[in-house]
Amino acid sequence: MAGLSPERLAEVKDRLLERKRRLWQEVKQQLKTNVGNGYQEMLATARDEEDQASVSLLAETHLALLGPKRQELEAIEEALNRLETGAYGECEVCGQTIEPRRLEIMPETPLCRGCMSQREKLAKAAAR
Ligand SMILES: [Zn+2]
Repeated sequence: MAGLSPERLAEVKDRLLERKRRLWQEVKQQLKTNVGNGYQEMLATARDEEDQASVSLLAETHLALLGPKRQELEAIEEALNRLETGAYGECEVCGQTIEPRRLEIMPETPLCRGCMSQREKLAKAAAR
């Protein structure tokens, strides 16, 4: 397991769970503020397919609005999975040990520095 001690891993897990808890609170708060009762009403009254479609469109819009938080939640979820399976601390792409300092700053990252900058370069190129 990528040279991380059990104590260190327990610490990482605590940090991830805490971060996840806080993010969920923020997300719920944000949903309440932005969606309000409209969404609930729509869900309650949606009957035919057309209504269902507009409901899911609405849901998608709001999930998109949650964008970065949702992505972070997913990343945390995956990191917790990797902790369970013993893959934590290894780069998802090249399989090398992720720099401890990097994990210190971003405990949920699945990539080593090299692969991350590679991915960012590709993302930038794709966005052009
Ligand atoms: Zn890598």
